[in-house]
Amino acid sequence: MAGLLLDHIYKVYPSGVQAVTDFTLDIQDKEFIVFVGPSGCGKSTTLRMIAGLEEISDGDLIIDGIKMNLIQPKDRDIAMVFQNYALYPHMTVYDNMAFGLKLRKMPKAEIDARVKEAARILGLETYLQRKPKALSGGQRQRVALGRAIVREPKVFLLDEPLSNLDAKLRAQMRTEITKLHHRLATTFIYVTHDQVEAMTMGTRIVVMKDGFIQQVDAPQKLYDYPANVFVAGFIGTPRMNFFDATLTGTKSKVYIEFEGQKLELPKAKVDTIINLEDYLNTGKQVVFGVRPEDFHDEESFVKANPKSLINVRVDVVEKLGSESLLYCVFADLNESDQIESLVEERVQLIAKVDNRSTTSINTKVDLGIDLIHTHLFDKETELSILEGEGTKAYVPVVELERQAKRAEEEAKKAAELEAKLAAKQAAKEAKLAAKQAKVEQPKEEPAEKTEE
Ligand code: ADP
Repeated sequence: MAGLLLDHIYKVYPSGVQAVTDFTLDIQDKEFIVFVGPSGCGKSTTLRMIAGLEEISDGDLIIDGIKMNLIQPKDRDIAMVFQNYALYPHMTVYDNMAFGLKLRKMPKAEIDARVKEAARILGLETYLQRKPKALSGGQRQRVALGRAIVREPKVFLLDEPLSNLDAKLRAQMRTEITKLHHRLATTFIYVTHDQVEAMTMGTRIVVMKDGFIQQVDAPQKLYDYPANVFVAGFIGTPRMNFFDATLTGTKSKVYIEFEGQKLELPKAKVDTIINLEDYLNTGKQVVFGVRPEDFHDEESFVKANPKSLINVRVDVVEKLGSESLLYCVFADLNESDQIESLVEERVQLIAKVDNRSTTSINTKVDLGIDLIHTHLFDKETELSILEGEGTKAYVPVVELERQAKRAEEEAKKAAELEAKLAAKQAAKEAKLAAKQAKVEQPKEEPAEKTEE
């Protein structure tokens, strides 16, 4: 059991690649933290720095209050499970799990107890005498987990442990690892590029891009309050729809205009827009984000929300069983644009609707938007301009830089003001002193009539 603090950690590889920049994260004991992001964003590098397999270029790694930067990997009390589970093919499952402990010269009886306990937890008791080649992929990955469990580490690090498994096994192992985390009540740090794994397993998710943390939050918060366009697009499938838009109207009646559409935003939504005056009627662009499930084609919604409707033409309907996806384009496109090419980039939005939807291909429909759940980002900074618990909890790096600059300017102004006040005060005191000197003088000399 352990808490970790990654304090302004940087990694620059000797080749000059800056893989991780200013990574700061406080991980509580027993958390299940997931690092997620596209390939090359620095997830594995961060994990490897925690394990001690990669040197930390700058910043501190603190585990349970102790600085770990220079501690050898074997002394960090951390176990790591890799994507490539690399079992010893000539050893039985039992020996594979016992091997690390034997190297540490642990007494045989204790090794036996630990291996058997791990096998029990992982459902491997009947496979202990098998060699890896006689196991399925999932069972092999369980043995790899077993090898980590027997060490009873303070922290488990898992680097894409399910990538080599097929979809069904991956789903099964996902739940097994979640159960294992509850059972062991130990800190887990898990790396994946798969947002479904991140959403389903993490107690908190760290979204990374280009070596920078983009947002840290609980899965649902991340989904409901993405802090920037990248997080909004990365978390959720199909991904969020984005439209370039502007805000018009008055403070009490704000419209969002996009793709020839003009919808009035509900007051409750408008109230959450930060610095509305920067955008209202200024032409400053925003990005309007709508999750596929926030489009509605069901009659009840469309009737109840006449102000939230857009008219689209449905190009493709995908029936997925539990739901249907509508691939739509805005209906006021020229009719002649239709069906010219199958590969054109004309799909402008994807709506996820009820599986009982009767909307069919090549029809024009009114889609209602659940406007209260939509998202707004500044087009230039790509940061959310909505207040929300999630966005408040998160401070993106660009915002940090901006805040630092602002703080610097404010400090400069404060210092100038202080200097001015001090000078004024000094002048006042000097004047007072001069006056006093003049008042005291008459005791010896006659008083002067004139003031300075
Ligand atoms: P991820 O795990 O998110 O896919 P990595 O942490 O493996 O990303 O890599 C982050 C960046 O660092 C990438 O640009 C990658 O090419 C680079 N990188 C990773 N390992 C090395 C290395 N040993 N030497 C130089 N660059 C590396």
